[in-house]
Amino acid sequence: MSGMRVDQDLCTLCGQCVEACPFGGVEMRDQSIEFTDSCRLCRLCIKACPTSAIWLEKSEAVGAVDKAQYKGVLVFAEQRQGKVQPVTYELIGKGLELAGELGEQVAVFLAGSKIESEAGKLLEYGVDRVYLYDHPELEHFRIEPYTGIMVDLVREIKPNIILMGATSVGRSLAPRVAARLRTGLTADCTSLSVKGNGDLVQTRPAFGGNVMAQIVTPRHRPQMATVRHKVMPMAAKVTKPDGQIVHCKIEESSLQSGIKIVGFKPYQVASSITDAEIIVAAGRGIARPEGLELLGELADQLGGVMGVTRPLVEQGWADYTQQVGMSGRTVRPRLYIACGISGAIQHVAGMRGADVIFAINTDPDAPIFDVAHYGLVGDLYEVVPALTQVLKEGGSPNAVFQAG
Ligand SMILES: Cc1cc2nc3c(=O)[nH]c(=O)nc-3n(C[C@H](O)[C@H](O)[C@H](O)COP(=O)(O)OP(=O)(O)OC[C@H]3O[C@@H](n4cnc5c(N)ncnc54)[C@H](O)[C@@H]3O)c2cc1C
Repeated sequence: MSGMRVDQDLCTLCGQCVEACPFGGVEMRDQSIEFTDSCRLCRLCIKACPTSAIWLEKSEAVGAVDKAQYKGVLVFAEQRQGKVQPVTYELIGKGLELAGELGEQVAVFLAGSKIESEAGKLLEYGVDRVYLYDHPELEHFRIEPYTGIMVDLVREIKPNIILMGATSVGRSLAPRVAARLRTGLTADCTSLSVKGNGDLVQTRPAFGGNVMAQIVTPRHRPQMATVRHKVMPMAAKVTKPDGQIVHCKIEESSLQSGIKIVGFKPYQVASSITDAEIIVAAGRGIARPEGLELLGELADQLGGVMGVTRPLVEQGWADYTQQVGMSGRTVRPRLYIACGISGAIQHVAGMRGADVIFAINTDPDAPIFDVAHYGLVGDLYEVVPALTQVLKEGGSPNAVFQAG
């Protein structure tokens, strides 16, 4: 692992390196210079040292980590107001799959206040262990204590893989944990698989979504990935859970934080397309804004909501909260009806997890048909009103397809 090194013979203990470090990463202890977890390898100390006693030893010189020491998957269980968030159960599902392939175990990190019952619920999904950190100071997410506690646990149990939700909390915590552990992190993965040697293959869109990159962390451990809510299916409950809760001790010093919570106001969660069971989505094929009304009627008949592609948001015809795709929302409804949508990779990244995808497009070669379970080559301005009419009359949509 790369790290700062000091030649204690050359060092005069002048303290200039300590003063130069803006991160508190260098300390003078027992008549020697020591580097702490806060060191960012920025090299300001090297410049400040008058006797050239400090240097950066690169990982190539130090040698790769011993992978055999790292086993199993650790899932970060995000809780809000004492309730574990749904993305956690999705990560557990993937964690169990990856660990199963390697013949290893799945553990969960859960921190909060009075949350033992939530730890019990996590066990119902077949995880082997829940490391529970229960303390009033951990009720709300604060970055310093959460980072410190999680890093200490990781150093102790040495997981091979760490999975975290790509939520605002996960996006804040994961990079800090990765930096402290000096390991790699791949954000917003859309798919994860594992090689026989334990290397995690992390797939995510890159270069503006024009390629799906496969990223591996072959020389460092643990391997860390974040995944957005709804990208992976939820784990199923097991009939006979046999995991255990490990009550972890919390040192008062680990709870130190520069952040003081003066109050907490829960925000009202508006109904979102992310949770919708049925989505009727409009693409540029609607050609004019009136097309949205047409599709809206179909969504109403089905008890669903409207989604859109990015060009419609850019056009000002729809709100960003309705955008499905890589730079919008990721959805996993039971039914997704794509109307006049070509099936660009950036759009598909946000909807390919739908149980049933039905596409209507005039172009028989449109890529959307590659991901659709059912496709209809036709003009949406003919198909959609006919479908809505049949539903209004209480009929089955099959009638439209048989007539078409
Ligand atoms: C970094 C980046 C991020 C992006 N993020 C997103 C994202 O989050 N979400 C997203 O959607 N896009 C995103 N995009 C844009 C994406 O690349 C595509 O441009 C966009 O998805 C295309 O939208 P569309 O399918 O509506 O339009 P088009 O690609 O223009 O397709 C229109 C389709 O409608 C069909 N059609 C035309 N008339 C009719 C008709 N009368 N009846 C039926 N079919 C008809 C056509 O055959 C065509 O297939 C992103 C792009 C980049 C570079």
